[in-house]
Amino acid sequence: MKKVVLGVVLLAVCLLTLPVCAAPRVRVMILDGESGGTYHNWRVTTQVLQKELAEVGLFTVDVVTAPPADGDFTNFRPDWNKYGVIVFNYDAPRERWPAELKTSFESYMKNGGGMVSVHAADNAFSGWQAYNEMIGVGGWRGRDEKAGPHWYYSNGKLISDDKPGKAGHHGLRRPFKMTAQDLNHPIMKGLPKEWMHQGDELYDSLRGPGTNMTVLATAYSDPANSGTGLDEPLLMVSKFGKGRIFHTAVGHDALAMSSVDAVVTLQRGVEWAATGKVTQRVPAIFPDANTVCYRADLAALDPNYPKGLNPLDAPTPPRPASPAPTK
Ligand code: ZN
Repeated sequence: MKKVVLGVVLLAVCLLTLPVCAAPRVRVMILDGESGGTYHNWRVTTQVLQKELAEVGLFTVDVVTAPPADGDFTNFRPDWNKYGVIVFNYDAPRERWPAELKTSFESYMKNGGGMVSVHAADNAFSGWQAYNEMIGVGGWRGRDEKAGPHWYYSNGKLISDDKPGKAGHHGLRRPFKMTAQDLNHPIMKGLPKEWMHQGDELYDSLRGPGTNMTVLATAYSDPANSGTGLDEPLLMVSKFGKGRIFHTAVGHDALAMSSVDAVVTLQRGVEWAATGKVTQRVPAIFPDANTVCYRADLAALDPNYPKGLNPLDAPTPPRPASPAPTK
């Protein structure tokens, strides 16, 4: 009888521990601490990222905040290897990190690490070659044709254009349509061919080495909103050694990040960058080609939210002869 009881107890213990053993959570680091200007409120957007990653149930999230612009980086040595993926909500100039810090991150990525670049993280580190290979394309911070060609889509093909010019520009924040260019990638499986994205900056003229880059989705940069008239890449994946990178260029602020497509692609992109797979289902509320769909709980984290549902920019300026220096 004692053996039977012991057996039942052991079985119960095994069953209780099974789910924990079967699905270990992915450790995620959100890296923040600096942006190119006050227009990117990283303290708020980190809260949005935390909230949307927590609800997936797959991740354990830590926030690591780098020293400020005038800070001491001597003892800033994040333990990259503790994490399956590093989410960059961080935009710092090229000289900010000491060489050994850059090298340690490059080693982490070469050995199979994961990275996600969110919006203005692709403005960062314009002179760090390995970083530019990871993100594939970037803008501003002095980037021009020397950073690499301008990448865009035309007639279903990825084009790299070497003509001289500055990298990085956007029109006023407006809702815009996004188009999937690779529905077979794990991040994209189950998404519609087209969907609407909540009011946001539509980055154009991004340049970079584009090393091992696959464009997952683009958006038409409308000349009526000082755009290029081209289908500009906004969701990308790249490889760096054994490392995987997901790059989302959308998400200027909490309101833009609250767009359901931005939430879903970020959640899926983080899982893919960490594991190479996506196990999450696409929610039924994913927007279609005519309808903007946003998350009120995430948008409400925006300090401008109480001023109105959609406090976007006012009049459309003409496209400047050369792109503006910031953002
Ligand atoms: Zn922005």
